[in-house]
Amino acid sequence: MVAIGPADRVFILTGAGISAESGIPTFRGVNGLWRSYRIEEVASPHAWRRDPRLVWEFYSMRRCAASAAKPNRGHHALARMEESLHDRLFLCTQNVDNLHEQAGSSRVVHMHGELFKSRCDRCNSAPFEDSATYDPQRAVPRCGCGGQIRPHICWFGEVPYGLDRIASALDGCTVFVAIGTSGVVEPAASFVARVRGRARTIYVGPEEPANTLAFSECHWGKAGDVLPNLFRFE
Ligand code: NAD
Ligand code: ZN
Repeated sequence: MVAIGPADRVFILTGAGISAESGIPTFRGVNGLWRSYRIEEVASPHAWRRDPRLVWEFYSMRRCAASAAKPNRGHHALARMEESLHDRLFLCTQNVDNLHEQAGSSRVVHMHGELFKSRCDRCNSAPFEDSATYDPQRAVPRCGCGGQIRPHICWFGEVPYGLDRIASALDGCTVFVAIGTSGVVEPAASFVARVRGRARTIYVGPEEPANTLAFSECHWGKAGDVLPNLFRFE
């Protein structure tokens, strides 16, 4: 058990593993999402410039796959944690699904964007809710400014969202918990190194992440099995 005291501030980083039990495939692994696509061909600014309809075909497929998914016990445990800790909990996810929100978490920072939002690729108008799937035979929809509507996703080579808020939450936390993330995708993989030595560093997942040595405590198992009984609030 991890004891959380009244002065603790908890930073949680979730990865694709927390959504695996909800039926959303992880990035790496046997049911890898990318088996029929090469990821650089569908998730990069270069791919968008070259073939935006192929990019939309891929994200339409992902929207379909994620639209029926329901949060699991891991997501629910983190939503309950927010009820206990309020703003002493910072929930940062690399996931683009909305399962944390569906479980009831209200202040989720999606550093890699959100699958059910789109935005213009040219002007600065705000991302908007969008669960549409696009027919690859049709032209890509356009913004009033003439730009093309793209998924609100941080692609390879782009800068993740919310990094300033994330940095100050990391610097203020006393407990850092990474859940279901393989520890290879930067900059998230280095968050633990930034807080190590100053905060307790905890990993939850079934396999060793690449950055395993930076964690002071590891709880091996599925997020849905481990998280409901992991924390004790004092
Ligand atoms: P990853 O796919 O690289 O690693 C997944 C990790 O989850 C592995 O370490 C695996 O051991 C672990 N895992 C598998 N089942 C688990 C379970 N039941 N409970 C806990 N852990 C489990 O994932 P990543 O590190 O998040 O990096 C992948 C990138 O792909 C991210 O950038 C993310 O944006 C994107 N992605 C997102 C989703 C999603 O939104 N659900 C899905 C796939 C990929
Ligand atoms: Zn525009």
